[in-house]
Amino acid sequence: MMKKRGILFIISAPSGSGKTTLCARLVESVDSLYRSISMTTRAPRPGEKDGMDYIFIEKPEFIKRQKKNEFLEWAKFFGEYYGTPKKHILHMLKRGSDVLLSIDVQGAMKIKRLKLDAVYMFILPPSIAMLKERLINRSTDSKEAICERLNIAKKEILCSQKYDYVIINNRLESALDNLRAIIIAERCKTGRS
Ligand code: 5GP
Repeated sequence: MMKKRGILFIISAPSGSGKTTLCARLVESVDSLYRSISMTTRAPRPGEKDGMDYIFIEKPEFIKRQKKNEFLEWAKFFGEYYGTPKKHILHMLKRGSDVLLSIDVQGAMKIKRLKLDAVYMFILPPSIAMLKERLINRSTDSKEAICERLNIAKKEILCSQKYDYVIINNRLESALDNLRAIIIAERCKTGRS
């Protein structure tokens, strides 16, 4: 039998939707699912580790890599660059491993244009009011930054229609169950197994 190719799972969500926690719990609890570690020019937040949460690099280094076509996709979000390193992901997919990308809407739409076999999942916060509360409680942004993140969030939510699945993160455990169910179903799809 021919070895199957891995599936690219893409998750997008407005900041403050609980996406980071969901993705971490997902890769912990689903077999053979690897999270891609993005490169970014933004500064690490307290508690974030280089090489674990992101690979933190300077802007000139990012632009150099972008010119060398080292990213599968990249985007500028909130004034900083974010990119998905290409080589490792293509290697993982080729050897049959499933890869999870946690990227913004612009990046997800770039991957759509590449026509790769991918599954698109969008996480919605229960409400804009709840999202605002989460961003305030996170205490990592100024009042102005929170306002701007909320404006970006509203635009991103409009794009959720372009995703294959929408999951409301009302309760972490049930959102996780939904994500796991989608992954299992996609792995069993005719033509893939
Ligand atoms: P944050 O700074 O809050 O960690 O991330 C900001 C946004 O950038 C989030 O929507 C996050 O998913 C997205 N992001 C993280 N890594 C990448 C990436 O490699 N490519 C793209 N396009 N977006 C990314």
